[in-house]
Amino acid sequence: MEQNKNIYDVAIIGAGPAGYTAALYSARAGRSAIVFEKASPGGQMGITSTIENYPGFASVEGFELAMKMESQAKGLGAACKTEAVLAVSEENGWEKVITKKGEYLARALIIATGAKPRLLDVPGEALYTGRGVSYCATCDGMFYRGRDVAVNGGGDTAFEDALYLSNMCRSVTLIHRRYQFRAAAYLVKRAREKDNIHFILNTVIKEIKGQDSRLSGLILSDKISGKESELQCSGLFVAAGRVPETELFRDLVDLDQTGYVIAGEDTRTSRPGVFAAGDVRTKSLRQIVTACSDGAVASQAAEEWIEGMEEV
Ligand SMILES: Cc1cc2nc3c(=O)[nH]c(=O)nc-3n(C[C@H](O)[C@H](O)[C@H](O)COP(=O)(O)OP(=O)(O)OC[C@H]3O[C@@H](n4cnc5c(N)ncnc54)[C@H](O)[C@@H]3O)c2cc1C
Repeated sequence: MEQNKNIYDVAIIGAGPAGYTAALYSARAGRSAIVFEKASPGGQMGITSTIENYPGFASVEGFELAMKMESQAKGLGAACKTEAVLAVSEENGWEKVITKKGEYLARALIIATGAKPRLLDVPGEALYTGRGVSYCATCDGMFYRGRDVAVNGGGDTAFEDALYLSNMCRSVTLIHRRYQFRAAAYLVKRAREKDNIHFILNTVIKEIKGQDSRLSGLILSDKISGKESELQCSGLFVAAGRVPETELFRDLVDLDQTGYVIAGEDTRTSRPGVFAAGDVRTKSLRQIVTACSDGAVASQAAEEWIEGMEEV
């Protein structure tokens, strides 16, 4: 139970489906739990337009599901703070979590920081981010109503973004560096059926150009012919995959070569008392339902760890 304002049984970093599930399981087990979130509730789930593969819901808006998970965790007594975690460390057997607003101690720590968008790393990207370059179609799409936009990528996210944007933008050009797509066949089929979605394949973006401090076009390079061309558009939605949010934990737990926290199905990391749940850990399927599953397992593992501490 909570002993004083900043001491908890379980600290959870990240309020996506993994974090909320861990919080609600820990709270139901009678433990004091705190969830830290640096952005908006729900993580990637919160920025997904429609979810059709979460059991019990034939179709649900990502933000709505996020709000339901948050209110369930809060209703059971978990504390939810909108505070970015800046550092984590060990202090006399406690896990110390530092945010801008203060320091918190916990007996167990669950890392549920998920993944963030991979950058394109081309000239103009940083300059025009927020001025035409976006990493979230559902967050920013409405600002491009009636405009011509581009989406970069060939996976599920790129296609979901293109389909979502095609309902409000005049045209959507999907630019992909390969000829084949990684996206699910049904998404590709839906996109091909849309009159206002166009495809430019075997092509990479070399540079993002702007005018009057806003994105105005893209310099493209054909990977086969090497020929360069310019595509005029008002917005670019980057969907080039995601990278794990693990910089903070580099010295705390073992990471794999690509930055994911090394943890198996039991969510245990290389450091006793620290668990990793959801997209942030090494696993084969990164989805809402598997993130929730990890959250439950991590909470149970944290419970066993705390019980072990109490027996000493
Ligand atoms: C566009 C899109 C569509 C998707 N569609 C589906 C779908 O239809 N069905 C499905 O099952 N899955 C879908 N997914 C995947 C699914 O959303 C993820 O697998 C799931 O959200 C992972 O949950 P998580 O809790 O592990 O991490 P996340 O959802 O990534 O949440 C992690 C949270 O941690 C926070 N955080 C990170 N660092 C810190 C810090 N230092 N301090 C505080 N907070 C921090 C982040 O801000 C974030 O809110 C989709 C993903 C995307 C991007």
